[in-house]
Amino acid sequence: MTIATPAPIVVVGSLNADLTIYCERLPLPGETVHGNGFAVNPGGKSANQAVAASKLGGRVVLIGAVGDDANGTMLLASTAGAGVDVSRVRRSPEAATGVAVISVDASGENNIIISAGANGTLAPEDVAGSADVFERASVVCLCLEVGLDTVEAAARLGHDAGATVLLNLSPYAEIPASLAGLCDVLLVNAHEASLFLGGTAVPDAGADTAAWAPVRSRFADRGLQRVVVTLGADGSVVLDSGAGAGGHVTRIEPTRVNATDTTGAGDAFTGAVAARLAAGESLPAAAAFASVAAALAATRKGTQTAYPEVADVEAMLA
Ligand code: ADP
Repeated sequence: MTIATPAPIVVVGSLNADLTIYCERLPLPGETVHGNGFAVNPGGKSANQAVAASKLGGRVVLIGAVGDDANGTMLLASTAGAGVDVSRVRRSPEAATGVAVISVDASGENNIIISAGANGTLAPEDVAGSADVFERASVVCLCLEVGLDTVEAAARLGHDAGATVLLNLSPYAEIPASLAGLCDVLLVNAHEASLFLGGTAVPDAGADTAAWAPVRSRFADRGLQRVVVTLGADGSVVLDSGAGAGGHVTRIEPTRVNATDTTGAGDAFTGAVAARLAAGESLPAAAAFASVAAALAATRKGTQTAYPEVADVEAMLA
């Protein structure tokens, strides 16, 4: 008897070491302040999304690049430890592993500087070198922490293989129409949605679904038929202009929790959507599940270590 192996989720993008220093208040330009704690944690949007999807039962392959240094070793160990296949993460002999230098003050306000390092070396050739993985993929999960040409090469391979191409438009950048046309699902927060739509604010949390109809049409005009807009503690909205959907807007109610750290909640949400789409769920059902997973992630400090497993989400839904 052969046991069918589930089709993989291919995540292409960034791995960063998050170097966080905690302080009473953030320094002004030119000023030095004393910190009161320091931590090095695994991060990078794609590594976070890969870990979130894997912890929720997805079979995940990560394509990326790290340096031949201690941070690279730490990141490979943490993602592999969460069950992610890291055999396609290249170790760059010349570039350092990507880092995010983060300072957080007593109120939780932060400053972040990212140095792309090896992430900046991830090229369309890396994607082409893993074409075999795309051929088997069910979902390809992308964000904008690596070059647009690399993102587009991955989207094209996923599209041509018949996989669902999921793009998290973060950190925000303008994308060419050629890339938009390859995306099956766009994931944006409210801020990114408004930037994408030329500065128009999206409806507020209390607005009814009719208020989202013009937003849905404007995304569709830009070639994006299925969009999830996340609204932080207010939940999310699924906009579907696809054939047969008849222009549908689905409001995903928020999951009420006592949030202690929302860092990486968006990545938990994206990874969860990827895992549930790969398991065959509809986009609204996947978003509803992701809403619970991301809310649970927000109740715990940290990013990857805070991400829930399927049993945690099911317990919350019970
Ligand atoms: P990002 O982290 O990318 O800015 P959001 O802030 O919109 O994205 O958060 C993504 C998702 O995480 C939300 O749609 C929601 O499901 C969940 N989430 C975020 N913050 C909270 C919170 N305080 N309480 C409950 N869920 C949250």
